[in-house]
Amino acid sequence: MFSFFKNNVLAGIKRIFKSEDAGLNSYFSQIEELLLSADFGVKTTEKIMNILKTKIVTNNPDANIAIVRGVLEDIINSVEDVNDIDETSDTGLNVVMLVGINGVGKTTTIAKLAKIYKDKGKKIIVGAADTFRAAADEQIEQWCKKLGIDVEFGEVKSTPAAVVFKTLERAEKECYDVAIIDTAGRLHNNENLMEELAKMYRNVLRFVEKQHVKVFLVVDGSTGQNVFNQLEKFKAFIDIDALIVTKADGIAKSGFIIGLYDQYKIPVKYLGTGEGINDLIPFDKNDFIKELVCVYA
Ligand code: GDP
Repeated sequence: MFSFFKNNVLAGIKRIFKSEDAGLNSYFSQIEELLLSADFGVKTTEKIMNILKTKIVTNNPDANIAIVRGVLEDIINSVEDVNDIDETSDTGLNVVMLVGINGVGKTTTIAKLAKIYKDKGKKIIVGAADTFRAAADEQIEQWCKKLGIDVEFGEVKSTPAAVVFKTLERAEKECYDVAIIDTAGRLHNNENLMEELAKMYRNVLRFVEKQHVKVFLVVDGSTGQNVFNQLEKFKAFIDIDALIVTKADGIAKSGFIIGLYDQYKIPVKYLGTGEGINDLIPFDKNDFIKELVCVYA
């Protein structure tokens, strides 16, 4: 199991409950501080604290830990997992679009995802629609060559939406199972670029039904709550189905994941756990909770 925490949140909570009895109010303020410092976010921390205050009435550490665990489980289980590709045969083309700002690990993640799908026996094509960054094409090409995966670049000076069109036209004609679409690592505060993204999405919907399209926002997990700002900006232009959290190998605080499930009802689909081609694992919410509540007393 991938170990997510450098600092185990509930280990801290257990210590608080086991510390000398200073009264429930003192426990609550210490827990609140702990959740905020672990990047749960103000809103989610407030919500959790309000629930805890109604449920915790004694200073029994084990019972109280179980209450905290229950609250976190309720939050994370309130959001359904998302399937990226339809596993049943003969369903036609599936499209996976990756969006995210520069530097989060989007290109590397495309290669890792392509490998996962290829290993499942799928016929893959990558649409290199990050036309704003010359190096992106090269990077994609190198990865795909290594993996033996086809790439479509479109015509010279194509718009991103035109690359999408060309990729999907080819994918349909040549019976690919999955098209992975790269998008510009556009700055999310640039309206024109975001509108281009919306255009790309509309082109995707000309070829496949919405249920066969998944849009994953790739975020760098080590940026904690900054993830929320990025999500807000992208969400305004395109439906985000799930997050891929990269650089999970370097995360010190992963409370933002609880904040994400609580405030946005959007799940995490994969974790990037290193720079290698095989360093992408499905996010397992049960493992995540297990680790949250794994208490090193
Ligand atoms: P892009 O600009 O979003 O396309 O980002 P790249 O895919 O070029 O990645 C930026 C840097 O992050 C590269 O040095 C990658 O090797 C590194 N990187 C990507 N994913 C991970 C990850 O899961 N863990 C770690 N440690 N590094 C990663």
